[in-house]
Amino acid sequence: MRPIQKSKKLADVCYDIRGPVLEKAKQMEDEGHKIIKLNIGNLAVFGFDAPDEIVQDMIRNMPNAAGYTDSKGMFAPRKSIMHYTQEKKISGVTIEDIYIGNGASELIVMGMNALLNTGDEVLVPAPDYPLWTAAVSLSGGTPVHYVCDEESGWLPDIDDIKKKITPNTKAIVVINPNNPTGALYPDELLQQIVEVARQNQLIVFADEIYDKTLYDGETHTSIASLADDVLFITLNGLSKNYRSCGYRAGWMVVSGDKKAARDYIEGLTMLASMRLCANAPGQYAIQTALGGYQSINDLVGPGGRLLKQRDLAHKLLTDIPGVSCVKPKSALYMFPRLDPKIYPIKDDQQFASELLAEEKVLIVQGTGFNWIAPDHFRVVFLPNSDDLTEAIGRIARFLEGYRKR
Ligand code: PLP
Repeated sequence: MRPIQKSKKLADVCYDIRGPVLEKAKQMEDEGHKIIKLNIGNLAVFGFDAPDEIVQDMIRNMPNAAGYTDSKGMFAPRKSIMHYTQEKKISGVTIEDIYIGNGASELIVMGMNALLNTGDEVLVPAPDYPLWTAAVSLSGGTPVHYVCDEESGWLPDIDDIKKKITPNTKAIVVINPNNPTGALYPDELLQQIVEVARQNQLIVFADEIYDKTLYDGETHTSIASLADDVLFITLNGLSKNYRSCGYRAGWMVVSGDKKAARDYIEGLTMLASMRLCANAPGQYAIQTALGGYQSINDLVGPGGRLLKQRDLAHKLLTDIPGVSCVKPKSALYMFPRLDPKIYPIKDDQQFASELLAEEKVLIVQGTGFNWIAPDHFRVVFLPNSDDLTEAIGRIARFLEGYRKR
């Protein structure tokens, strides 16, 4: 038989969070090694249980969830999402502007597939949550990375954004709160991004999946609340704020200048129809989650487990010589920097792979987030304090060895 090859569409598509280093970790686990995983924002496996009312509601509704639903989603959860957009001060959103998906991931790919032709460019942050870059490439577009500036707490560099706009630029992706850096963007910066989008007729894709995972009393502004003359596609879901990523419940809200986007919206609706609908049990969970007790506040507020673990991980990491790290204001991740003078790393995937082999700790290399240099890595601060202390202790030991090379 002829060799069967992957499609040419995949040539530039890369998603390293679940890449070769994870494969190696799985192999090591099969051989009986115990690995401490700091690689994926999967709360449930670290004992952050989904709120009980969501679980009970899904169980209760399971008998009603066997059929297909409307392609955009069931009425009641969409209505609760509509109310949520009102809470976030996004104006003019109707039920028809809301699409429920199997997680935000499905809708990110759908949003790009419906938009892009070959040669179209999309501005994506560096570092990014790499699905965004991958979705642009898969859809035939060209991701163009704008830099987020570590010195300013990982905020997008507006001048760099402006420099990278060409006549082919169709959209800008804004991940706020941010994965992998934990940055939370101030309103003035969001206003500046809106102004750039307005002047250059760009669609704003706003990934706000961590909008309730905020520390130190911070608050979140939805960029879509700041204008109604720009088209916004806002993404959110239950995976993080409600510790329910396995339920695959996410949504996408179209707002702002919808009139100009009639054709694009038709494309979105067609793609939603082609995949029939999102899983129905997950849809049932949405209404209960949004209207229920917001237990995330207990985890991120004073004395909360996530807050404590953020502080612990940050202290332990920044105590290591040559390691610095902007303290996250939100989300579940840290993106520490390894001083290149002390750690002259050439290939950070190799670095992650060696750390795994020597110390049985799994991280993701910074270039996996489309970061420009091999001098960062990402960790989640989800394991309990003992495991975090152990894991970062092993990273420190590995780095000590690295310094002596
Ligand atoms: N957006 C960001 C920034 C994420 O970090 C993730 C998952 O880690 C997703 C989207 C995917 O979310 P979902 O589970 O809803 O597909």
